[in-house]
Amino acid sequence: MSEHTRVGKSGFETRAIHAGYDPDPTTGAVIPPIFATSTYKQDGVGGLRGGYEYSRSANPTRTALEGALAAVEEGERGFVFASGLAAEDTLVRSTCAPGDHVVLPDDAYGGTFRLFDKVERAWGVEHTSAAVSDVDAVRAAIRPGRTRLVWIETPTNPLLNIGDIEALAAVTHEAGALLVVDNTFASPYLQQPLTLGADVVVHSTTKYVGGHSDVVGGALVVRDLDLADRIAFHQNAIGAVAGPFDCFLTHRGLKTLAVRMERHCDNAERVAAFLLDHPAVTQVIYPGLPDHPGHDVAACQMRRFGGMVSFRVAGGEEQALAVCERAQVFTLGESLGGVESLIEHPGRMTHASVAGTDLEVPADLVRLSVGIETAEDLIADLDQALRAV
Ligand SMILES: *Cc1c(COP(=O)(O)O)cnc(C)c1O
Repeated sequence: MSEHTRVGKSGFETRAIHAGYDPDPTTGAVIPPIFATSTYKQDGVGGLRGGYEYSRSANPTRTALEGALAAVEEGERGFVFASGLAAEDTLVRSTCAPGDHVVLPDDAYGGTFRLFDKVERAWGVEHTSAAVSDVDAVRAAIRPGRTRLVWIETPTNPLLNIGDIEALAAVTHEAGALLVVDNTFASPYLQQPLTLGADVVVHSTTKYVGGHSDVVGGALVVRDLDLADRIAFHQNAIGAVAGPFDCFLTHRGLKTLAVRMERHCDNAERVAAFLLDHPAVTQVIYPGLPDHPGHDVAACQMRRFGGMVSFRVAGGEEQALAVCERAQVFTLGESLGGVESLIEHPGRMTHASVAGTDLEVPADLVRLSVGIETAEDLIADLDQALRAV
């Protein structure tokens, strides 16, 4: 059976497992081999086999992952990069020129804010921040004729605000700009922004897609073929590509995304319910809670509410830091989306780069990436970590 007959209109899990690759015609290898090669023999000058010429331009291990990511996001083409930030920078250079303007979330991932504030701005691309949960604020931040990209995350990091992708796509397209959705927190299993009108999906595949905290990578997925051609040109011209071993690991992770996400969501719901009842916790931020301001929008555009939970600790920063340090099953560390649970203090760790700006996060905030361990163990660990507060 060819890839198309097997994958075509099939379900998410089938696409995640089969799209992008047919068993190797010469050996039958079921999994894309790690093509550790920089160059390819040509059958006469310019006689490329399958279009492969040099591995910055294309590599078969990468092609397989790019096809699979396009399929799970319901896009036309996918592109993978050495990191999420490399994907973001390549997207900006593919779509913007000096003098252009970009709207960013007012609680953007710290590294994304730093990229725009310190790197893209020096290149002449300016930015304004707006709350993704406020469509009017995003509309007001757009500078007609100059804004090229409206960039959102939903849920955002670390405050888990929700942006209405359909409504924001309408506002963005009215102004002739492109809507970019960083879909890292939801993962393609929970949310497919291109089906809701977004123009570009960005991923840090380091997180849920890779899923095992063993590889750094990034991706872009688009539907428009002209935009795809511009990204393909810049992917090759800039060269921040993922190597074949990284592509192999990321692709292996993608195959189990659906089952992992179900357990991440189960455990996050249990943890959020536990924290809600805890006297040392002043606020629980999880889009699955009915009183979360983005709950209804999230319920419409996401399959479930994800594995990220943030909460605020009574007693302020010192107590929040102490909770992070006392946790044992939750590992104190940056990043998210792996099978193991992580705990961190955004103000001092992932979001230290936005201290003193409008994007500063509350000092008493703790962020959890709830993993797929036994739920009772996660709850018992948080219970002991909060006991001294
Ligand atoms: C981690 C992350 C990024 C950056 O990705 P890297 O792979 O670390 O370069 C971008 N956006 C979000 C939401 C992230 O969590």
